[in-house]
Amino acid sequence: MARVVVIGAGVAGLGAALTAAQTGVETILLERNDFLSGLCIWSGLHGGGPVLEEMRLVSSGSIRWHDSLKRYALFWEHDLPSAQDNLGDREESFAYDVMKADQASWEALEGTGVKAMLRSQVVDVEKEGNRLKAVVLANGTRVEADAFVDATGRAGLMKEWCETLGQGCGMCVLKCPLFGECISPAVKAGAADIYPEGHHQSGGPRFFQAVMVLPESVEPWLRDEMLAAKGVYWYRVPEEWLGKDVTSQWCSPHRPLPLPNGFVEEHFLINYTPWLKVHLNVPLHILRQLPGFRDAFPVTPLSPDGQTTFLKRITPNDNGLRVEGLANLFAAGERARTVSSMTPAMALGDLAGYNAARCAVGLEPIVLPDDTILGLFINVVKLNPGGGYNAFIPYKPDPNIRRPEHPAYRQRGLVTGDMSRDIALARERIERLGLVGLYQQRLV
Ligand SMILES: Cc1cc2nc3c(=O)[nH]c(=O)nc-3n(C[C@H](O)[C@H](O)[C@H](O)COP(=O)(O)OP(=O)(O)OC[C@H]3O[C@@H](n4cnc5c(N)ncnc54)[C@H](O)[C@@H]3O)c2cc1C
Repeated sequence: MARVVVIGAGVAGLGAALTAAQTGVETILLERNDFLSGLCIWSGLHGGGPVLEEMRLVSSGSIRWHDSLKRYALFWEHDLPSAQDNLGDREESFAYDVMKADQASWEALEGTGVKAMLRSQVVDVEKEGNRLKAVVLANGTRVEADAFVDATGRAGLMKEWCETLGQGCGMCVLKCPLFGECISPAVKAGAADIYPEGHHQSGGPRFFQAVMVLPESVEPWLRDEMLAAKGVYWYRVPEEWLGKDVTSQWCSPHRPLPLPNGFVEEHFLINYTPWLKVHLNVPLHILRQLPGFRDAFPVTPLSPDGQTTFLKRITPNDNGLRVEGLANLFAAGERARTVSSMTPAMALGDLAGYNAARCAVGLEPIVLPDDTILGLFINVVKLNPGGGYNAFIPYKPDPNIRRPEHPAYRQRGLVTGDMSRDIALARERIERLGLVGLYQQRLV
């Protein structure tokens, strides 16, 4: 029986495995840690919008995971003042209990036939010409397959950044070299491993736009008000902070970061998950100047600044996500494009899993049409010759940093800004293009 092996059980790997399995191929999911869901144990806010509607209609495997996670929603995006015009998306955007991400992932896999193996770090590969024959686990076990998916995320040379920037990092558990070298099978197989350069959204090291603090470390009145407000709490930033240049005295020189125009929002948000996620990118000593935060204690890294390093390392691949120079290896999630959130990582997992399944049974990979949001964002490499992987094309506006979606989506009529209408349009075009149920077609 044709077999697909997916390496890495973050949201992209889960999407890849679930999508491959629904085509009927045997599917094995290898994860180096002892839990599923990768960085989703940190993320917390998960959004949908019209792209999620497209994914639901093409029968993305990752939607099964999304629906599982929804059972552990803490509150919905429409509770957020910044999202009040997004009510059409009511059922699909939420903050979830990150402590349940692992459980939600197991529930999504139940009954699908995906065989998930924890503590199974891939450390090497076996090749024959331009094809991968097998991956080799740290304990020496060989796992053969007809096609493979590298969903190892930003597995890269964390060490060099950790050592030079030294700010501590929320990815310690997952990626810290102290817990074992980060190994991408694609790189082991001879594929390139690149830092996309340029805009902070695209490449190189960058730092997270939020500080996670222990709930017990904020003052009780603040915790109470937050709980009373369903866990979403808006806070007034002091007048004198507005417009400050957060790239200078507000940040360490290592943090060339993310709100280039200073504080753009008058308020910021606190999510009440097992920790508090403070959507404000300031060092801890600045955060502590706010009422209620005098003793705020960072959860993520035990660094003086309470910041999290983001790195992007990707493996060059085409619009079908096939890794350059390797006939039966596909890249998924953060390994494939310069994305930084769960929904695009899911979409990149689904296509990689589907194409790996096709490849495993001797079919050519597919490319999604440019006149879908999924296609436009995945085909970014083709659409930006010369810009290549540096061009991250956000398809959803981010009200918290006042970033609109990329104009390409409006130009092509894929979004209008009215969420309910955009979702209806997504439905129309997937039906018109004959893509309904695409990923669910049996290949064996
Ligand atoms: C602190 C933080 C907060 C975030 N907040 C949000 C948010 O609120 N909303 C949002 O949408 N996104 C958020 N993100 C981003 C989002 O979590 C990621 O973009 C997404 O989860 C990436 O998924 P992935 O599957 O591509 O990679 P990963 O989640 O990194 O998964 C890769 C998996 O591969 C495994 N692996 C690596 N190497 C090997 C190997 N050799 N063998 C076997 N397994 C291996 C890893 O252990 C890991 O489980 C956040 C990220 C961070 C770090």
